Amino acid sequence: MEGSYEKTLDKMRERLDKANFSEWYNDVIELADLSDKRYPIKGMNVWTPYGWKVMQNIDTLLRKGLDATGHDEVCFPLLIPKTEFQKEADHIKGFDAEVYWVTHGGLNELDVPLLLRPTSETAMYPMFALWIRSHTDLPLKTYQLVNTFRYETKQTRTFIRVREIHFFEAHTAHADFEDSERQIREDLQIMKDLGKALCLPYVLAKRPEWDKFAGAFYTIGIDCLMPNGKTLQLGSIHEYKENFSVPYEIQYEDADGEHKYVHQTTYGMSERIIGALVGIHGDDRGIILPPDVAPIQVAIVPIYVKGKQDMINEVAQAVHKRLIEAGIRSRLDDRDIRPGNKFYHWELKGVPLRLEIGPRDIESKSCIVVRRDDGSKHQVALDELEDTLAIMLKETSEVILAKAEAMLEENTTTVLDLRDAIGDDDETIKGILKMPWCGSEDCAETIEKDLDRILLGVPVPIDDPNFEWDDVKGKESNCVSCGKPTSNWTYVAKSY
Ligand code: ZN
Repeated sequence: MEGSYEKTLDKMRERLDKANFSEWYNDVIELADLSDKRYPIKGMNVWTPYGWKVMQNIDTLLRKGLDATGHDEVCFPLLIPKTEFQKEADHIKGFDAEVYWVTHGGLNELDVPLLLRPTSETAMYPMFALWIRSHTDLPLKTYQLVNTFRYETKQTRTFIRVREIHFFEAHTAHADFEDSERQIREDLQIMKDLGKALCLPYVLAKRPEWDKFAGAFYTIGIDCLMPNGKTLQLGSIHEYKENFSVPYEIQYEDADGEHKYVHQTTYGMSERIIGALVGIHGDDRGIILPPDVAPIQVAIVPIYVKGKQDMINEVAQAVHKRLIEAGIRSRLDDRDIRPGNKFYHWELKGVPLRLEIGPRDIESKSCIVVRRDDGSKHQVALDELEDTLAIMLKETSEVILAKAEAMLEENTTTVLDLRDAIGDDDETIKGILKMPWCGSEDCAETIEKDLDRILLGVPVPIDDPNFEWDDVKGKESNCVSCGKPTSNWTYVAKSY
């Protein structure tokens, strides 16, 4: 039965046009069935099975990176007492306006109101103060994957700006600043590996003082560039130094019996990763999922011919079984609908490879494999199927990463004079601008106002996570605003 909702979907399919990015983004998420935003609370969307599976696969990659570096997964309560939340002054200032409160237990007003975690520092650190006693307890490296809540007042957008957020947060505690700085570098390496698996290029920027995380000593933002020219912050890595350990009294006894405060770091990311995957890799035919996180890597579509249906199904089932055994995530689509509709369906959902098998293929002991990223068709011998598909999945990853890297590079422009930031059409050049900036707040304000963009911060090296902060400098030049000589640079962009 075709209801009105199905008819709406058909219309959306016809008009998918990535050039109208904002509309395309909303439509493609609905068509690929990644999330359902019809839940009766704005910004709190329902994870549909397909979208949730993508998220779980991303979480698996994150867990792998964290577990391999000696982090332990924890799970803290959702509610935080107001009294704990209030201990770090800057932190409250940063989050106060975004907090959901629980004021009643049943009919009774609570003595101490509770809040839904917007992030978990204030939930975890009172416990860290109990867990950490001696220098032998350090470093303490933990992480959790939970939902967090923020009362967003800006327009919500699936995966990008929501009020209930699927969140990853790593929290570590160290004996001294040097060790916490080593942790930051480990986080950068974990991010580098994750970015590769997700085929997502990004830039790292040390945020300006006024834009760092509430309570942090410094913040490194991880930003992707979306096709509409806006950057999307995927996550961030924070050095807290002793900013939280002092108010939360997280102390340890060192080898000489002296009591010291720990130095802390955090590393956070969210479901925005899916927003970036959708936006950066997708096209007019749907989303394109990186093979490492695609819930289905190969969709098998049997091409039926009258009288041979059973035989074809038998071969298709055998192929499906072989792929599953080889560790390839395969789905056999034996629904009673036209093959063309099946092709369309799996294209929309971004399945990296489609495998077609019909009577003629079976006769020649082969099948046809179509790549989602470039639409190319390949005849593949059945007896080499597993190896060939594994190679094709790897190639798909490499190609979509290279394409995304090219897009980022093409849309990153060095600007030495603010007038250079204006293109021929009198509009500011699209994408990320990189410019010398003396570091003053006044100049930042001028730049932001003149270009109608924000400063993302100082470019941080990506290829070498073991950089020294003293070496994080650009070419000696002149501040685009005041003209003072400087080797300090900043990224500037429109941002989500
Ligand atoms: Zn300046």
